[in-house]
Amino acid sequence: MLALRDATTRGSVAYDNAELVRAAAGLLSDDPELLAQERRRLEHVYVDELADTDPAQMGLLSLVAGGGKRVVAFADPDSSTYAFRGADPTAVGTFTHRFRTASGAVAPAVNLHTNYRTGGELLAATGRVARRLRGPAGHRAQTPAAEVTSAVEVRTFRTGTSESGYVAHVLRQAHLLDGVPWSRMAVLVRSTVLQLASLQRALHAAGVPTVTQAEDLPLHLQPAVAPLLLLLRCALEPDRLDEEAAVSLLHSPLGGADPLGERRLRQGLRALALAGGDPRPSGELLVDALRDPAELAAVERRWAAPAKAIAALIATAKEAAANPGATVEDVLWAVWRASGLAERWYGLTARGGPVGDAGEERGLQWRGVAADRDLDAVVALFDTAARFVDRLPGARTEIFLDHVFGQELPADSIAPSADRGEAVRLLTAHAAKGLEWDVVVVAGVQEGIWPDLRLRGSLLGSERLVDVLAGRADAAGVAASLVGQTSALLDEERRLFYVATTRARRRLLVTAVASAAVGGSDHEEQPSRFLHELMPVSESDEDADELPVGRLPRALTLPALVAELRTAVTDPASPAERKRAAAAELARLALAGVPGAHPNDWWGLRELSDDRPLVDEGEPVKVTPSTMESALRCSLRWLLERHGGSPPASAAQGVGNLVHAAAMLAEDATVDRGQLLEYIAGRFDAIELAAQWMAGAERARAEAMVDKLLRWLATNPRRLLAIEHEFAVRLADPLRPVDLTGRVDRLELDADGRLVVVDLKTGKTTSVTEAELAEHPQLGAYQAAVEAGAFAEHGDETGGASLVQLGTTAKEAKEQAQAAVGEGEEPGWAGALVRRTAETMAASTFHAVANSRCRVCPVRSSCPISGKGRQVVEP
Ligand code: SF4
Repeated sequence: MLALRDATTRGSVAYDNAELVRAAAGLLSDDPELLAQERRRLEHVYVDELADTDPAQMGLLSLVAGGGKRVVAFADPDSSTYAFRGADPTAVGTFTHRFRTASGAVAPAVNLHTNYRTGGELLAATGRVARRLRGPAGHRAQTPAAEVTSAVEVRTFRTGTSESGYVAHVLRQAHLLDGVPWSRMAVLVRSTVLQLASLQRALHAAGVPTVTQAEDLPLHLQPAVAPLLLLLRCALEPDRLDEEAAVSLLHSPLGGADPLGERRLRQGLRALALAGGDPRPSGELLVDALRDPAELAAVERRWAAPAKAIAALIATAKEAAANPGATVEDVLWAVWRASGLAERWYGLTARGGPVGDAGEERGLQWRGVAADRDLDAVVALFDTAARFVDRLPGARTEIFLDHVFGQELPADSIAPSADRGEAVRLLTAHAAKGLEWDVVVVAGVQEGIWPDLRLRGSLLGSERLVDVLAGRADAAGVAASLVGQTSALLDEERRLFYVATTRARRRLLVTAVASAAVGGSDHEEQPSRFLHELMPVSESDEDADELPVGRLPRALTLPALVAELRTAVTDPASPAERKRAAAAELARLALAGVPGAHPNDWWGLRELSDDRPLVDEGEPVKVTPSTMESALRCSLRWLLERHGGSPPASAAQGVGNLVHAAAMLAEDATVDRGQLLEYIAGRFDAIELAAQWMAGAERARAEAMVDKLLRWLATNPRRLLAIEHEFAVRLADPLRPVDLTGRVDRLELDADGRLVVVDLKTGKTTSVTEAELAEHPQLGAYQAAVEAGAFAEHGDETGGASLVQLGTTAKEAKEQAQAAVGEGEEPGWAGALVRRTAETMAASTFHAVANSRCRVCPVRSSCPISGKGRQVVEP
């Protein structure tokens, strides 16, 4: 009413909660008749959470209920956690003096000692924390209302992963074994930004359904809202659109780009810019493209699409904000509608629902739940915008953005909370105030995070004002001493920890990482001092090693149970009794259709499905010279790589392929060097580099290879016959004919009229030693192909074969020549080697042979002698 009145008489006036209270008190003070009327109306006044009231609220209460009115206030000074909003726990101690009885006597204070929430063990533990708090202590002795069992567990872990694994285990155990519904459990953390999201991911992965409601996070940190706000900010304050913001927007649901798409977009923009003589880095080009999408028309459509979408949304926001009288709601609505996210997320929620079993269905359900959460967050954003417009009619969108980005805590919500469903609640300790659950986990209680003793202040310094009023700082406004501020902060943090631990009805688990306690590390993490305070005195010690270290038990999942039973059955050291019990349990699970329980599912026990050779006798075996070396070195690696195990092409291979392609233009040394370099430059951006900063060095390497090739060509005495010449020739054999196929980089004619095959190598190291060269399989296979008539149109006499190393750090290309096969003691060695390779490739068994390349083998996780592939078939 005040806001409406002032908006009509004085224009736009803003009121926050505290200001409304203050203004109401002002109105009543100015109007004795109104005050008297209000006091007559109120017979009893009840105040909840007295310890969290601020001076303005106390002032208003004094006006309407002071002077002997019937006032009943409830307080627990140990749980006051809103000093930053001006709350002062010491108000509890002075309350009975300030609100005296009608006769002027000090009002009576009653300590309530019966605790209806929990049992003895929990009360004793949280009481130990409370004892460390300053202030009145008369209320702290508590006894449980009934004999209920309660339990407290404090555990530290070596890593955050084991910590979240244990938390998941405890929650699953409580749900599956003790029957506690998910919704009667909660996990509390201190820091929204540092802890909430990572813990939620870990619990999801462990199959614990969790819910983080929109109001648990500050609005601007919510994943669904952050991109919308960022987009508005970049649209209305163009200087804010830098490379980081551009990348965030592209990867957000508004843009939908993935890292590959971003890289391709950068490459496309850079290629266009270079063609126009613009050397700017791709980050700048990206930002420009979002401001003015004209350039994007020339980039391949699928890579340009995310940037076009963002550019269009920025234009929409600008246009909507430029309309006279447009409110932040109008601008937000225009962007939201244009984004198309509403339809997409609604589509997902239609498929969402309660958590089900594993598999694809569960994935869909999680996505549905996530979409639900995102939609809730956007609704909360629109609510906030609506309230903002109500309070500040006519305020610009930029002011709304400042308002939202300034919120460090979840905003107060006037909307009722949505049904949270059957899921574990994940929230901050501040948000947990006033709530309780059967099982509560307080996770990530690390020194430095909790207590967080960084000195901080609110925008208006209300906490210092409270100190001044309470006489803890001088009236001139000089800040209290550093020590005083820190100790007040420690008190506030301890009270917050007390609030968190007192949310539990039956079971409390408090966890932290103690990396130094088990071996130490450079970035060791220490458990908070609060963990020691929770422990019984006899167990408590200032030494962190004294805290119990947790071990991760077997996960309470069916696959983990099946694995343990199978181990018990197959372990020769297992006692017969245990084996029998495990086998009976497995039979029961197999009957119920649990995957992996039936021995038919145990791969190691199965007969080979097919023991025939890879190529039937009499059928030709296809051999390519470039794979011979791999097959002869380790036939298992060759087999697995050939059937899907080869890694994707690396950036170095991409550069090598480009140099090979450029070399096709270089028949001899007279070729125009500029033309080759232009060819490289024109296609370089198509290579996928791991990082953009590598582009300069890799391109220089490619150009250096071209120069080395040209200098080698200038000294090469042979005459070129063909470049990139494909061949296919059959080596006849009644049992096992061999189809030798491939492509040679260069086919040349030597001075004696014999054919020489040249293979260009672009790798950074020379892997062929001079000793290996004489029987190098690839070169030998080329010579065998020549002799078999693969290049019959040019002749069939081989003059040898050569590798030309271009990619090493040596200044000049190095030619490694293999002598003509006919010149050695065994003229038929090359053909025999090809046949031996064919035998290897056509076999029915393939051997793992340890060799110098095992370290970089892409299939070692499937290799029985690498130590990683063993578990598939062996106990
Ligand atoms: S790790 Fe070594 S032995 Fe095993 S498959 Fe790879 S190359 Fe062969």
